[in-house]
Amino acid sequence: MSELKVYNSFTREKEVFKPITPGHVGMYVCGPTVSGESHLGHARPYITFDVIYRYLMYLGYKVRYVRNITDAGHFEEEGRAAEDKISKKAILEKLEPMELVQKYTNLFHWAMAQFNTLAPSIEPTATGHITEQISMIQKIIAAGYAYEVNGSVYFDVKKYAEKYDYGKLSGRIIDDLLETTRTLDGQEEKRDKADFALWKAAPPEHIMRWPSPWGEGFPGWHIECSAMSGKYLGDQFDIHGGGMDLQFPHHESEIAQSTICNHKNPARYWIHNNMITINGKKMGKSYNNVIKLTELFSGDNPALEKAYHPMVIRFFILQTHYHSTLDFSNEALIAAEKGLRRLWEAYEHLNKMTLENGQPAAASAIDEELDKKVKKLVDEFEEFMNDDFNTAKVLANMFELAPIINSLKDKIIPITALTPGTFNLLQEKFGLYIEKILGLKSITEADNDKLKG
Ligand code: ZN
Repeated sequence: MSELKVYNSFTREKEVFKPITPGHVGMYVCGPTVSGESHLGHARPYITFDVIYRYLMYLGYKVRYVRNITDAGHFEEEGRAAEDKISKKAILEKLEPMELVQKYTNLFHWAMAQFNTLAPSIEPTATGHITEQISMIQKIIAAGYAYEVNGSVYFDVKKYAEKYDYGKLSGRIIDDLLETTRTLDGQEEKRDKADFALWKAAPPEHIMRWPSPWGEGFPGWHIECSAMSGKYLGDQFDIHGGGMDLQFPHHESEIAQSTICNHKNPARYWIHNNMITINGKKMGKSYNNVIKLTELFSGDNPALEKAYHPMVIRFFILQTHYHSTLDFSNEALIAAEKGLRRLWEAYEHLNKMTLENGQPAAASAIDEELDKKVKKLVDEFEEFMNDDFNTAKVLANMFELAPIINSLKDKIIPITALTPGTFNLLQEKFGLYIEKILGLKSITEADNDKLKG
């Protein structure tokens, strides 16, 4: 059996996966900001890490999977002190901030269930871990790598970069950061433009606020993940995951915070999924092409020709290796829908087949070449998954197996052409991979009409 290898974004190398504690895996994945509805871009990381979670469990690991909920206002873009999105939207919709948080958290959970993703082991919230974040900030101040100005606390990136490699994960160079960072809110308070907020003083109109040693305010975004991953997985854990767009500044800053507090990189393996583009364009508010998950399921968006079943989206995402870009288009989704149906039909036929009376096939009836081919295609499932979770290649093999299965069902090829061992292996592994590891389901089980409600 081959060993599991994962591409580590931090070392930029494919490495053999060796957990810190044998038999156990700690995995942290950055969760959603629940100030609005999840969109297509959110589907990819959560489906990718769901398959990774399932596969690690299949390999026999006991996995603690932690995925946070960002329910406090934070800074979204590099160096920019954005308005607290959650409290601003709460005023607009005349809701309590926590009512809004609950609404979008419920909607997120619902969408994840539609995608058949397993719930994480722990789903901590930023607002539930204010004290942990404050104590981490105090540690960074005590170490001399953060400073307070007017009730806000900033991480001293310039000082950190003198001793440590800020920018190693994302490949950013500190000098570039200083040049490209624009003059924005909060900049005049910082010693250096590249510094980021650990704690922000709350202006009077700000609804979400907590007492702190520096006055009333709210935590920065990066500190939340450092505090919660440390609390539930320890100072150093095995896997930290998220989308590639989080490498900078979010994950870079998490590494800096943990390096100062715990003297180590928080994670051994950093795994990042690539982005989804729409008809070749980046997806984002500024491109006006964001497709919400509820719109995908209902078809209610001008960019969509029809509604798409969540399983079609899941299948579409898994047909490309997580490290490659994935371009969304109606044609691609319609092709994915056909592909999933074809594969599922073959799987259902396979499930109904039995070796007649359990009799071993007569040696003369065995088609050795076919038997070898089937066995190889099935054995490769694990080989491909061990090669950095290559779901795309597993599905490609399933597509090669589908016409063979159909011929067995139509008796064009007698079932006795395969050795009982190979037939049993095919039946067992096909089911295991398509349902348990890739987490796919039949798309006839639930149709889109049900999802509209
Ligand atoms: Zn995070």
